[in-house]
Amino acid sequence: MRKPVIAGNWKMYKTIAEAVDFVEKIRPVADKASHCEAIVAPPFTALRAAAEAARGSALRVAAQNCHWDKEGAHTGDVATVMLRDAGCTHVIIGHSERRHDCGETDEQVNKKVKAALAAGLTPIVCVGETLEEREKGETEKVLECQFMRGLAGLTPADFSRIMIAYEPVWAIGTGRTATPEMAAQAHGFLRRLARQQFGASEPDGVRILYGGSVKPDNIGGLMAQEEIDGALVGGASLKVDSFTALINYLRG
Ligand code: PEP
Repeated sequence: MRKPVIAGNWKMYKTIAEAVDFVEKIRPVADKASHCEAIVAPPFTALRAAAEAARGSALRVAAQNCHWDKEGAHTGDVATVMLRDAGCTHVIIGHSERRHDCGETDEQVNKKVKAALAAGLTPIVCVGETLEEREKGETEKVLECQFMRGLAGLTPADFSRIMIAYEPVWAIGTGRTATPEMAAQAHGFLRRLARQQFGASEPDGVRILYGGSVKPDNIGGLMAQEEIDGALVGGASLKVDSFTALINYLRG
């Protein structure tokens, strides 16, 4: 019932030429992959070229961030309408690297989610605990706080248009993956929260992706969990071979 999503977050990697070359190679893979949706998130500079290279295929293009205002004096920022103009359909919001590097708050995440929805983009909203928080037994408290604040004021209809990415901070770029059971537990918790907050039907359809050192050799086990609806992948999304293997995952 929930179509899986495999999304590659390229972070601050790839020039325009590298992005176009990658998209040209991956678009036939995305077209054949009727079992899942494939998305790539290039850096801002390569968004338009990547979207043009993906045009007419099943591959979708996401931005890695946005501002909440429609326009204005925000040096270095990019508005959601500009992302649409560049050909994006999705935008990653609240990635832990932005929360840590740029001090992004749940309140800002909330404004960005609303702006993305208003512009017709699908927000991929990231939540996740640090190692210290997990070791203190605070994982659910942290997830609840990020979820409630980041999604405050959304209607059930708004909620049905978003994706959530559970990304434990200690698993991002570290080679240390949450076990499929740990991830499924967090996803189950988020879906229960969603049901409490948004009623019975929409939360059942919302895709919750797992992110944190997903690789071709561990995706099968993760995707075998009913609660895991896909993956948000950093490092392993940068090479055509590994991203192809991720899109063509086999359930473990
Ligand atoms: C990410 O960038 O969201 C991520 C999960 O990175 P990695 O797969 O490299 O851990």
